[in-house]
Amino acid sequence: MLDILPINAFTHSVKPYIIAGPCSAESEQQLIETAEALAALGVGVFRAGLWKPRTRPDTFEGVGSKGLKWLKEVKRHTRMRVATEVASPEHVEQALSAGIDILWIGARTTANPFAVQEIADALRGYDIPVMVKNPVNPDIDLWIGAMQRLNLAGIRRIAAVHRGFSLYNRSTYRNDPQWHIPIELRRRYPSLPIFCDPSHIGGRRALIQPLAQQAIDLQFDGLMIECHITPETAKSDAAQQITPAELDRILSCLTLHTDTPAGDEILHDLRRQIDALDTALLELLSKRMEITNEIGIYKKQHNMPVLQPGRYNEIISRLVSRCAGTGLDPDFIKKIFETIHSQSVANQLKL
Ligand code: PEP
Ligand code: MN
Repeated sequence: MLDILPINAFTHSVKPYIIAGPCSAESEQQLIETAEALAALGVGVFRAGLWKPRTRPDTFEGVGSKGLKWLKEVKRHTRMRVATEVASPEHVEQALSAGIDILWIGARTTANPFAVQEIADALRGYDIPVMVKNPVNPDIDLWIGAMQRLNLAGIRRIAAVHRGFSLYNRSTYRNDPQWHIPIELRRRYPSLPIFCDPSHIGGRRALIQPLAQQAIDLQFDGLMIECHITPETAKSDAAQQITPAELDRILSCLTLHTDTPAGDEILHDLRRQIDALDTALLELLSKRMEITNEIGIYKKQHNMPVLQPGRYNEIISRLVSRCAGTGLDPDFIKKIFETIHSQSVANQLKL
């Protein structure tokens, strides 16, 4: 159960709601210049990390509390609302006394119920919007649990931020989107505002536009996008930050959708689930092809034939026998895997 207020308790600008700003605050000048450019685009909420949870200890860990007065200056100067990440009760206390408008809990913190509980306890009695990023691991209940902890402490302006999930093998994405997870979250809590963070999912500038469009197609409420005045010099996440001008271009290219008539909501929800599953199938197929190519290289190096009929029969009969009880027609599965297998063989022959 989540007792939360709808998206307009968070922000009153038009959909999709945009939160933008650098990964990290680096200097007052960097913040002001970035914020001025974003305010000119009509962005209502400015983000900047002060305390940075970095994977490795030898990297920039944020300017810490000295950046609070820079954010206050951004607020005074641009009238934007300002948001920062908190990971401990000390961060919460300092952010609240500096008048930060919106807090967010980072992916590594969401994965730790002790830390989330301490943050929730520090927030008890305050009315401030809090965004909760998904945990680094693909566990929807852990994500919901973090939001419930805040909710039980009296926080009702809560939004979820989908930033993708860590995988041992990074493929196209820095963090795998696994769209079915935020879609399931929406199914369980239809009024929970959900933002997408294409910057941390993609990890590369070139992926922000297509990911943002996918998020819009899946009816996310808004986007959190990392923007830096000179992205290539950024002290953290340089490869994924974009300039305010690039943000402007991306936003103006987005295809927005009109609101669905209430009666179509069920159909749309089901179609969203189908689209997410199709995307997941595509990604699985691409991973499968990568592995069959590796096998092809191995066969070539060891002078083995490409086609091994015994193995082919083994694949088909194993899957056909697994159809029992799934509702899947074995002939259909046979056809699909014959096609997949013949494509793999064709790829191996080309090596
Ligand atoms: C961030 O928003 O800069 C950040 C650290 O994100 P995440 O918690 O998603 O890694
Ligand atoms: Mn970042």
